[in-house]
Amino acid sequence: MLSVQPDTKPKGCAGCNRKIKDRYLLKALDKYWHEDCLKCACCDCRLGEVGSTLYTKANLILCRRDYLRLFGVTGNCAACSKLIPAFEMVMRAKENVYHLDCFACQLCNQRFCVGDKFFLKNNMILCQTDYEEGLLKEGYSTQVR
Ligand SMILES: [Zn+2]
Ligand SMILES: [Zn+2]
Ligand SMILES: [Zn+2]
Ligand SMILES: [Zn+2]
Repeated sequence: MLSVQPDTKPKGCAGCNRKIKDRYLLKALDKYWHEDCLKCACCDCRLGEVGSTLYTKANLILCRRDYLRLFGVTGNCAACSKLIPAFEMVMRAKENVYHLDCFACQLCNQRFCVGDKFFLKNNMILCQTDYEEGLLKEGYSTQVR
């Protein structure tokens, strides 16, 4: 969708609204741009360079990196299994990712503060109390058997 074309008649640049007198102009999104005007709305990097891909969403023109950062996904939350958008803060435990809101003990719903210990057991997040209780119960049941 990005192509460089020889200029036939002057066209207005969609970025700065001035006429494009350069020999080459860029055509993207059915509009014409100066090479310098077609840039990422987030990081200002030029998108006219050969080989760069541009992404658009909601009237924003973005480079691949910013597009993924804003509209990509980090993965599925290991607790509620919904997708987590890439711009959201996440909690990580081993290879699992969690929504901030979902990162709580899955037995008693206790939230963790910075520095709190949490445990992963059968892919469930547990607080220290529940984890230790689980260990005790397991110890007990093996004794009974
Ligand atoms: Zn321009
Ligand atoms: Zn960018
Ligand atoms: Zn979640
Ligand atoms: Zn708990």
